Amino acid sequence: SEGSPAGKHVAVFAFPFATHAAPLLSLVQRIAAASPATAFSFFSTEKSNLACFPGGRGGEGSECPNVMAYDVWDGAPEGYVPSGTNLVEAVEIFLRAVPGNFESVLEAVERERGRKITCLLTDGFYWFAADMARERSVPWVPVWTASPCALLAHMETDSIRQIRGTSDMTLDAIPGLSTMRMMDMIKEIFDTTAPLPTMVYRMGQVLPQAAAVVSNSFGNMDPIVERELRSKLRRFLDVGPFVLSPPPPLSDEHGCIPWLDQQETASVVYVSFGSMIRPPPHEVTALVNALDKAASPFLWSYRSDAEAEVPQALLEKAAAGKRGKVVPWAPQLHVLRHRAVGAFVTHCGWNSVLESMIGGVPMVGRPFFGDQCMNARAVEAGWRIGAAVEGGAFTEEATAAALERVLAGEEKEGMRERAGALKEKALKAVEEPQGSSTKNFEALVEIVTG
Ligand code: UDP
Repeated sequence: SEGSPAGKHVAVFAFPFATHAAPLLSLVQRIAAASPATAFSFFSTEKSNLACFPGGRGGEGSECPNVMAYDVWDGAPEGYVPSGTNLVEAVEIFLRAVPGNFESVLEAVERERGRKITCLLTDGFYWFAADMARERSVPWVPVWTASPCALLAHMETDSIRQIRGTSDMTLDAIPGLSTMRMMDMIKEIFDTTAPLPTMVYRMGQVLPQAAAVVSNSFGNMDPIVERELRSKLRRFLDVGPFVLSPPPPLSDEHGCIPWLDQQETASVVYVSFGSMIRPPPHEVTALVNALDKAASPFLWSYRSDAEAEVPQALLEKAAAGKRGKVVPWAPQLHVLRHRAVGAFVTHCGWNSVLESMIGGVPMVGRPFFGDQCMNARAVEAGWRIGAAVEGGAFTEEATAAALERVLAGEEKEGMRERAGALKEKALKAVEEPQGSSTKNFEALVEIVTG
């Protein structure tokens, strides 16, 4: 029973921004299903929990009865009005509240559920969990939801900071990062004072203390990076792609799939910039014009924006001749697995890159921040399954050129083949019972609940 003192109790600390909490929750639900007697307490902000638990707080009667959600303070003082959609500001305010916000709720939850925690499973960012776990003599298992190469860059921060050279110089001296250029590096790596950079720096320092670091990637996706991480961490467990175990049910309220069914194989360009990014209006216009020039059908997941009325009108015009479809949200994984999709114009957020690999779809990358630049570089120069937009922003010419390379140029076949090979690897990794991700998941369950 919940009150049994011997009962296991896993505390999960989510990072409530970007696409972090949802993949973590999907992993937790899977572990919870594998260990029904273990209690899981999922801590995030109220806003994040509302999005992750649309049906309530989990627990009794829900799909995962042994997972319960609890709210922690988002750090905002009473009456605080966030200034628009400034993510950095919200993150900084939140970071001022950690770890106290987690600690106070954790203690209350331990009393309520009648179980001390026996494991701390946290977002990879949470350096402070190393101390919390040590004080409680429980294992700390951070979950890295971005790309493995970004994780490696954070662990190599001291070496990267010492490199002197031009921005297009490659990091040849650092195994695993040798295809990366200085300009692709996460810019937080070079900042020694702001809150977010301080967090990821500390994280890189303490991750080797973790019982295991979990990654949303799959074996042999990036062998040198994986080898380096294995040598630096006590255990590196790649158990991904999370989204394949099991794939989410299709929810397609805007009719994307029936529309794709009517299109020719590998003809459609799918456009999406994840959950937060809205490219500036002039870039949207440039992309619309480039799509027009390529004369490819397109499906665009577009979040409207008061400032972007002009591109919105343009988009609608482009969509008018039935050549395009514009929706506020698409069932992305299912879209990328559809035979009609031939290219993905993306910000190269890690979930998007993985989902594109799962679909075997080549990418056109227009990264904005964080690990997106590294991911775009890996797509173009590492895996060679796509083209980054030259100059780093959508202009009509550069975008048309990148689309041409992926859809029609002589590199197209090779890109499709390599993307298809990665897709096969991803599918093999999650096979039961022998896939590498399947086996690593079993090891993870043992560490977290054993
Ligand atoms: N996504 C989706 N439909 C959309 C746009 C995005 O399902 O119309 C999902 C996408 O499948 C991915 C996530 O949102 O799982 C975006 O994650 P990513 O790491 O790429 O970007 P972020 O949101 O963190 O910027």
